Amino acid sequence: MRAHNGFYGEYGGQFVTETLVPALDRLEEEFLNFLRSDEDRERLDGYMRDYAGRPTPVYFAENISKKYGFDLYLKREDLLHTGAHKINNTIGQALLARFMGKGRVIAETGAGQHGVATATAAALFGLRCTVYMGRTDAERQLPNVRRMKLLGAQVSVVEIGQMTLKDAVSAAYRDWVASVQDTHYIIGSAIGPHPFPEIVAHFQSVIGDESRVFFSRRGGLPDAVIACVGGGSNSIGMFRGFLDDRGVELVGVEAGGRSPLPGDNAASIGCGIRGIFQGCLSYVIQNGTFQIEDVHSVSAGLDYAGTGPEHAHLHDTGRVRYTSVDDAAALTAFHELTRLEGIIPALESSHAVGYALRQAESLAGKTVLVNLSGRGDKDMDIIDAMTGGES
Ligand SMILES: *Cc1c(COP(=O)(O)O)cnc(C)c1O
Repeated sequence: MRAHNGFYGEYGGQFVTETLVPALDRLEEEFLNFLRSDEDRERLDGYMRDYAGRPTPVYFAENISKKYGFDLYLKREDLLHTGAHKINNTIGQALLARFMGKGRVIAETGAGQHGVATATAAALFGLRCTVYMGRTDAERQLPNVRRMKLLGAQVSVVEIGQMTLKDAVSAAYRDWVASVQDTHYIIGSAIGPHPFPEIVAHFQSVIGDESRVFFSRRGGLPDAVIACVGGGSNSIGMFRGFLDDRGVELVGVEAGGRSPLPGDNAASIGCGIRGIFQGCLSYVIQNGTFQIEDVHSVSAGLDYAGTGPEHAHLHDTGRVRYTSVDDAAALTAFHELTRLEGIIPALESSHAVGYALRQAESLAGKTVLVNLSGRGDKDMDIIDAMTGGES
């Protein structure tokens, strides 16, 4: 574990109702047992390989590289089953739930991607599944609601607050407090009370491990490794492969949205302050009275008011540099990758690509690895709305 007593530096912890503390302690213990079990590790590896599609390739994007003057490599998490890195976490945690003898899983979802990935893993392992989703999100993301239902999940629509992700998270915690005996809560990013950030980072670290192996075999590590940061799971999974390689620059890209003004972006580290959010201490976008502010990003998966505690720590220590890319630059990168490489990226991942393209001058001649966290099929409606269908 990279966390010490549940903390990354001063961030992390368990800021939850007292009744959950024994459940979190048991979860940590069982997670460590799970990691020690060769049989279970092999089972996980088997599903990752034959079901999810690992290892994913590292692809040299030759056309973009020629045009922009640096060598761009893409870690192709977009090729995974269900279209993004989220399946790494949900299969891992669903196996952990079974290992703990639990027959039911719950999850929160905003755009629906984590809900679909959880419902998929639940179907695979025969677990009962409830996914909490705010009404506003459920109406915006109807195809994902349909997918979850087809997969056998119960979609519980939350009608309180703004009826979006944070309300869905609250509802999931309420369920868990009452159901923890037979239920595991599959948190969707490297956030929440300890040990969740550690568990999610572990299941996602396969991204960085595979990438490091690829470059080691090729004879040299990349100069820079870039990933987008929402709650922080694909990025921490990638960064963990390179944290000890001091020569590798690590860059986390947050959603710059429309502007740096409150309500216009989702850059928790860049524009937020320290605060307690969803059970841990980290960086959060909140106002002077500690209310969570509205957030905005063109990409639904980055539209989140907090980021994981390990990122907060990596920011303060300076090992990872956090920056942001706005909606417009992410869209430009989306179109560049689509037209030049024939790869339609998720709008989330387009932020990471956008950073590389923006920095082309300072990256000239260098080897750059970008985590392509997911595919963009899910974003067609947004793209049409932004471009008037003329793209
Ligand atoms: C959900 C999602 C993200 C953001 O979540 P992280 O936990 O920060 O990785 C990024 N990319 C894609 C494709 C997603 O679906």
